[in-house]
Amino acid sequence: MIRLSYNDESLEYDAYALLTSFYPGQGTEQQLCIADPCAADGMHLSRNEKGDVEISFHKGEAFPDDRTYSHAAEGKTEHDIKWARKRFVYDTLADYSGLSLPWGGLTGVRPTKLILGSVTERGLDEDGLAAYMKEQYRVSDEKARLGYRIAMLEDKLLAPFRGGGYSLYIGIPFCPSTCLYCSFLSYSVKAFGKYVNEYLDCVERELSAMEEIMEGRAPDTVYIGGGTPTALSAEELSRLLEMIRRHVPIDKAAEFTVEAGRPDSLDGEKLRIMKGAGCGRISVNPQTFRDETLKLIGRRHSVEQVTEAYCAARDAGFENINMDLILGLPGESLSDVEYTLKRVEELAPDSLTVHSLALKRAAKMREWVAEHGQISGLDHERAMKKALETAESLGMKPYYLYRQKNIAGALENTGFAKEGKYGLYNILIMEEVQSIYAIGAGTVSKKVFTDGSGRIERCDTHKDLSLYLSDIEAMIERKRRLFGATD
Ligand code: SF4
Repeated sequence: MIRLSYNDESLEYDAYALLTSFYPGQGTEQQLCIADPCAADGMHLSRNEKGDVEISFHKGEAFPDDRTYSHAAEGKTEHDIKWARKRFVYDTLADYSGLSLPWGGLTGVRPTKLILGSVTERGLDEDGLAAYMKEQYRVSDEKARLGYRIAMLEDKLLAPFRGGGYSLYIGIPFCPSTCLYCSFLSYSVKAFGKYVNEYLDCVERELSAMEEIMEGRAPDTVYIGGGTPTALSAEELSRLLEMIRRHVPIDKAAEFTVEAGRPDSLDGEKLRIMKGAGCGRISVNPQTFRDETLKLIGRRHSVEQVTEAYCAARDAGFENINMDLILGLPGESLSDVEYTLKRVEELAPDSLTVHSLALKRAAKMREWVAEHGQISGLDHERAMKKALETAESLGMKPYYLYRQKNIAGALENTGFAKEGKYGLYNILIMEEVQSIYAIGAGTVSKKVFTDGSGRIERCDTHKDLSLYLSDIEAMIERKRRLFGATD
């Protein structure tokens, strides 16, 4: 049992994230409690006679127990104080557990954004950055150096996009079936297919409004995601792409991606339609090359369909194909991961996105874990290293990285790509250097202010399909307010 109690609510997120990273899946949530407020500053950790770990954060009480932390707030920034506390919690948990976390005390989604900021502000080289990340955030040498490589490459790739442009995202929330681990907005196309045309009507209204709101400015990149856009019929997909071409000067965009993730949603006709509409980059996502796992995670397609879809995409002329993999899927061992990587190597995609499985709140996977206990006994760090080796053997470099809550092995998701085959939209959304105009149900638009303030404002749309369809004008109005305002 691990019990965390505190009386300073500003600590809740960080302390809880660290505790669950050190002790994943150990029911800490149920044990979380808030202590009575006290007066001055300090933190406290103790162990009871049963060996249970108790960490208490209190203000101003002198505790005689194992560890007490206190700080002099005078002359310190909020950031300094926050990190002094986090290091205390991290070091204490590391000592008690005998473990260390690859990303140390960092719990945010965008470590490379922080790394790039540190490099720029402090004028650090790779060694300097690695030392700083260790001292300040307890990040491992390996991850600090990975982050440095990615941040430097991203900085170069993002240079043309820092001038206040925007990217367009269109969400198509339909899929052939729901994957066990999914937390995206996804409606079964079989059950909800009757709404697709009405949905496309709304997308067209949004596109038309966007033209006016953005005063005809062309987006830098266009990404159609979901869901699975290719879950639409060939006719519906064709309608979607034609309407996009009517409203968006696609030829001016540096990148046009369609997420064609599910191989069971692809065929030669749809691939030709996408190619003909100017789509240059697609994703064909195996996740694993083990049929048993695919069945278990509800993908409802076979490994053979992955290779067929991939070869059909090459035949249709696609020269920029991404593959997504997930490490840590139920029941998978290191040799299963190695087998998957070997098959990826044979097919040689242009980019590879390697995810560490994240147990998300909405995912059916949580139910599976409750029923089966542990997900897999995978050595996540070794599996991630193998994936990196495979990507490098294919001539790819790591170019973007992000983390999620409850991510396996407290690791990361990394995008690798060959030179010139980088998914620019992926970096743009992660590093928040430009606005994203997002269309469709359950999407979030983001305005990045270019006045030097670093301010970002967001607006979302209804996740519920029927609400989105019936409330479309209000959804458009939100975007008009967000993007119509001047910096
Ligand atoms: S294909 Fe993607 S969006 Fe669709 S259910 Fe699976 S994980 Fe979710």
